[in-house]
Amino acid sequence: MKYLITSALPYANGPIHFGHIAGVYLPADIYTRHKKLKGEKAIHICGSDEHGVAIMQNAQKAKISYQDYVNQWHKTHKDLFDKYDIKFDFFGQTSQDYHKEETLKWFNDLLSKKLIERREEKQLQCQDCKNFLPDRFVEGECYVCGYAEARGDECPDCGTWIDPLKLKKPVCKFCGSKNVSAVDSYQWYLMLSKSHEKFQSWFESRKPFWRKNVVPFVESLTKDNLVDRAITRDLDWGIDVPLPEAKGKKIYVWFDAPIGYVSNTKEYLKQIGSNEDYVKDWWGNKDVKIINFIGKDNIIFHSIIFPVMCMGTGFVNPVTDLPANQYVNLEGKQFSKSKGWYVDADEAITQFGSDALRFYLTSLIPETSDSSFTWKGFELKINSELANNIGNFINRAMKFSAKNWPEGLKAEKFLAFDQDHESTVRDFMKEYHELLDSQQIKKGQEHLMSLGSKVNLFISDRAPWTEFKTDPEKAAETIAISSMYVMVLGVFFSPYLPNLSASILSYFGLNAQSEVVKKIYQGDLEALKGFFRAGFKLQVEPQGLVPKIDPKVIEELDKKLKEKAQA
Ligand SMILES: [Zn+2]
Ligand SMILES: [Zn+2]
Repeated sequence: MKYLITSALPYANGPIHFGHIAGVYLPADIYTRHKKLKGEKAIHICGSDEHGVAIMQNAQKAKISYQDYVNQWHKTHKDLFDKYDIKFDFFGQTSQDYHKEETLKWFNDLLSKKLIERREEKQLQCQDCKNFLPDRFVEGECYVCGYAEARGDECPDCGTWIDPLKLKKPVCKFCGSKNVSAVDSYQWYLMLSKSHEKFQSWFESRKPFWRKNVVPFVESLTKDNLVDRAITRDLDWGIDVPLPEAKGKKIYVWFDAPIGYVSNTKEYLKQIGSNEDYVKDWWGNKDVKIINFIGKDNIIFHSIIFPVMCMGTGFVNPVTDLPANQYVNLEGKQFSKSKGWYVDADEAITQFGSDALRFYLTSLIPETSDSSFTWKGFELKINSELANNIGNFINRAMKFSAKNWPEGLKAEKFLAFDQDHESTVRDFMKEYHELLDSQQIKKGQEHLMSLGSKVNLFISDRAPWTEFKTDPEKAAETIAISSMYVMVLGVFFSPYLPNLSASILSYFGLNAQSEVVKKIYQGDLEALKGFFRAGFKLQVEPQGLVPKIDPKVIEELDKKLKEKAQA
């Protein structure tokens, strides 16, 4: 089995916040690292989603070209992911030619099968600046709730999918004119309704494996029928509709964005000089599991529309598993840059580093319900759990070892890692693998922490610092066993906290690529025991690996957040 893992393409139109990181990119990264450490063939594909009206509006506001605008965000996002140690095998761009080529292949195929059709329709047009006004290019009063600034695609207040023709008092967002009227036009539609039966039988086969939060949502949207949707727009940014009568029309962003997973895979294989084929060896291969990590706002596209496109073309297999997460909020309210209710993810990582933030954000992964970031929660999580439980244990054991056995511990001391410890580690590994294999990433970390608690209890009970005074041989055994647990923690923290894991493994002269590390990760206890069979001497001077967070710093950040929100 091979694993084709994707993360929702970030929209190249604004900063990535903690909600995106904890909801999508971090769990996908941890899962991919896990699969790779297990020795499975896995790739993690992502890239920027670079078309659409919101990008056009902001590029116009910034007075730069659309391409420059999306390039900037592409780079900003890529840099941020690097700082969080979130690794992709490929991170592409949907504004590139390779993506256009793949998208046109899909469009033409669906058109030839009459799964894309032209339809006449009314569309809003500004009678002053003559622009057509799709989606966010028009605002007006919501006909459901009366909210004054409803957009042509959605009412931000009541969440209704807006039919722009029904908006009251429409206003042109290009020039501000109220001289807006409906004119005859035409667009191409994806004929989802024609695929209802095919979709239903496929969905039935997926239901048992999908998350409980996803299934009823998809069911409610698809029970009776599927609704056809326009996939072209009158815009000047995007992929041209490849038809002579479609001059000035572009393929709309939500049609081309998911194809980005496929085009980015193709480009990835090309760039690394692989002789694998993106379809035969990956997307169309029945021995490949396709796993889309997404947030709940993306469920419609990944569970309904894109699978219908996949089945319609027959080019690629539809998604196998869809770990869709709920939202991460900021103290219970949605992140909002414009309202100042916001924490800059880039500033935070610069200040606290990837271990602390990855650890806290993993604890917030909203697998079953929404969760909330708070500065106080961050401080507590790091100081009372990561530092107290893991950092403190490793620090105590390793420093005591360096101080009292600078020449190292002899092989026979490690024989005390007996049946009891072996079964502790074996049980731990079994559950750890089950949790990560089923994408229960947050629980996997909790499980690691419970191993940490066990070994803390062990070292506190044995109290080698007291043992040493009366029975130094026994103390040596305690530290030998502890060293083996330190190694186990170093190995299994690798997907979660690659930075901390690397520091721990360096004590043993190892890294995440070392053969013995992979063997242990894969559950080989003999590899663990074998490593210590020659005795063990620390390879690096031990130092505090998990710095505590100063409560005063947190107080300041908390104060700053609340002041910003009021301003
Ligand atoms: Zn206008
Ligand atoms: Zn409304």
